Amino acid sequence: MAERVIPLADHRYLAAVPQVPVHAVAPTGSVGDLLGRPLHDLRISVTDRCNFRCGYCMPREVFDKHYEFLPHASLLSFEEIARLARLFVAHGVAKIRLTGGEPLLRKDLDRLVAMLAQLRTPQGAPLDLTLTTNGSVLARKARALKDAGLQRITVSLDAIDDATFRRMNDADFPAADVLAGIEEAARVGLGPIKVNMVVKRGTNDDQILPMARHFKGSGIVLRFIEYMDVGATNGWRMEEVLPSSELIARLQQTYALEPLAASAAGETAERWRYADGSGEIGVISSVTHAFCRDCNRARLSTEGKLFLCLFASHGHDLRALLRGGRSDAEIAAAIGWIWQGRDDRYSELRGAADASAPGSGERRVEMHYIGG
Ligand code: SAM
Ligand code: SF4
Ligand code: SF4
Repeated sequence: MAERVIPLADHRYLAAVPQVPVHAVAPTGSVGDLLGRPLHDLRISVTDRCNFRCGYCMPREVFDKHYEFLPHASLLSFEEIARLARLFVAHGVAKIRLTGGEPLLRKDLDRLVAMLAQLRTPQGAPLDLTLTTNGSVLARKARALKDAGLQRITVSLDAIDDATFRRMNDADFPAADVLAGIEEAARVGLGPIKVNMVVKRGTNDDQILPMARHFKGSGIVLRFIEYMDVGATNGWRMEEVLPSSELIARLQQTYALEPLAASAAGETAERWRYADGSGEIGVISSVTHAFCRDCNRARLSTEGKLFLCLFASHGHDLRALLRGGRSDAEIAAAIGWIWQGRDDRYSELRGAADASAPGSGERRVEMHYIGG
């Protein structure tokens, strides 16, 4: 199927208006891409705004007061998001993660959570419904999210040391407030809770051990993420990546760790447990150990563009179909067709510096726009 590639009105990213197959095939509950990977996991960005300015994601020099965020009318409404989510679920999506930007800045997010919590897979099961947040307003919102049907939560925290954390978020936000958010989330039952720490060598790698010490034995799973070359604004350099293998070796100088088997196909984290039985940690080796082979994730941007890879430079404009009066059957058929044509595997190609790698020569999409 040929796609017409048109620039967005604000020239932000290229997006194609998907063609609707003439003979719409109804979703069967399972659709594979060109590499045989099923569509299983949908990440939905509900806002491109954030109150933090983490240097690896929204560096302040770029995302300053002159930066134009999306106008409200561009955003998908909750009704539009829920409608698309239902069609994705009909194709086999069983897990939805709300993200951003900072998702808890989107007004009345619990209303969307309640809508998504009602969806059922073709087998009649509820979805695995979760959310990734910087935790800044979590203490205030955890209860309403839980009541609306959110099951669990992932909180990002890059340091336990307050000065380091304030530097990392570049908004002078205190670590104690995020920790209070995590505590409240645990109290209201939003578990199991995961905490994500992006590790930058020379910036916060001295926090690896203090973070491990803090969360060990708490029931919270700490996951260390390799600093990724996502987007085009963070000035990524390989020297600042701390490979997970080195991180595990460092931790093993203090704690005995044993590898665990993956709990689900397509899972991004390699799991390890403390030999003394005091819990587990994870490492996400997005740079040093590509996991494209099992990548079953689709991403829906704040304004309804479907991206098939975190490193894509082109989206598929589902909002154009929604607002163009297309039927559920037509939009579902378009989604199935797009997924069936997917062959993205950026991380595998990255090492080869291949000129045919997706996005080469074009501006890649930013993390805060499509979500992590
Ligand atoms: N604002 C929320 C938060 O920070 O949790 C949700 C959105 S944020 C884009 C999602 C995740 O992406 C966070 O855990 C963040 O640390 C991670 N992330 C952002 N930029 C990254 C990068 N360059 N490398 C690795 N992880 C990154
Ligand atoms: Fe905001 Fe999350 Fe990006 Fe940090 S990682 S700037 S908290 S969207
Ligand atoms: Fe999936 Fe793209 Fe990441 Fe590979 S690089 S794991 S295809 S999102």
